[in-house]
Amino acid sequence: MSGPRKLDIYFGIVTHQTIGDSIRELIEASFEIYHNIKCKGVPTTIVCGGQSPAYYCLAMMNFSIFNPDLVNIVILPHSKGGKKAINQIYENELYCERLREKKINLRQNVVIIDGVHSGTGILALESALKYCFPYITTTKIAINAQKGISEIRVDQEIILCSEPKFSDVFPRLVVSYYPRDFIDGSKFITKFIEVDTNPIAEMIIDIACNYPKIKVEDTEWYKLNNDISEEVASKKVIELQRQKVEEIQINGKGKSFIPIILCNPKRFQCPICKTITGTAAPKNPLDLSLFSHRYDCPNKYRIPN
Ligand SMILES: [Zn+2]
Repeated sequence: MSGPRKLDIYFGIVTHQTIGDSIRELIEASFEIYHNIKCKGVPTTIVCGGQSPAYYCLAMMNFSIFNPDLVNIVILPHSKGGKKAINQIYENELYCERLREKKINLRQNVVIIDGVHSGTGILALESALKYCFPYITTTKIAINAQKGISEIRVDQEIILCSEPKFSDVFPRLVVSYYPRDFIDGSKFITKFIEVDTNPIAEMIIDIACNYPKIKVEDTEWYKLNNDISEEVASKKVIELQRQKVEEIQINGKGKSFIPIILCNPKRFQCPICKTITGTAAPKNPLDLSLFSHRYDCPNKYRIPN
């Protein structure tokens, strides 16, 4: 531990995000998740389902708003690797024995946070918890890298581009615990591992302690780990473009509209608010900044087609 420094750590494939960006996304999202749960004012247990949500939970536990008397966090390793159980009840019985052994208790309100793909993992964990604690009601929050990855219905899906870094690339914070080991209590480790020697964890803890009083981008940690190489810069441009298109699709619900085409020179006119564009709009119909509508025009976020 030696304070803010440029980290020399394996980062996997280059994306549009620097290490600083990834940590910033994690801190901001974790704060929002925890804050929203706490705001309901109902005693709740957050279940951190394994490695995938672990760094998010680590951040939550270090915020000054963290109040375990109201919303506590329990780390429960539970690895399915996408495989469905042959005998779910037997698995539940064993897992429940382990929970009892560790004297783990859950409040009536349980929020399970996990990366959700096939859904096998989170559903099996939910099944085991409900088997062991029949009185609980569960809410499922998925943290995924892209929309549409989750194949099951969850209560909330949070899309965070850097999620794969925290679940697969950075050092593990939670041990894997497979059903074949459910018989073995010694492998059921319900706390973070090797936090003291994990520089990513160190950076997260340092930043989380002062967040949101000090914004992530204002910290030394962020500045020292925000190296924008040419590759990162070019990926940022592509990502911005993707976000723009996505925003158009969401706001316009994927709709387009047929503009009136004016000639000599070629320009568009909105059939509703009658605004006329310049000549650049017909050449770049995807660039909605070139087509200004009246503020209340329903075509405002739609693509002229
Ligand atoms: Zn219009």
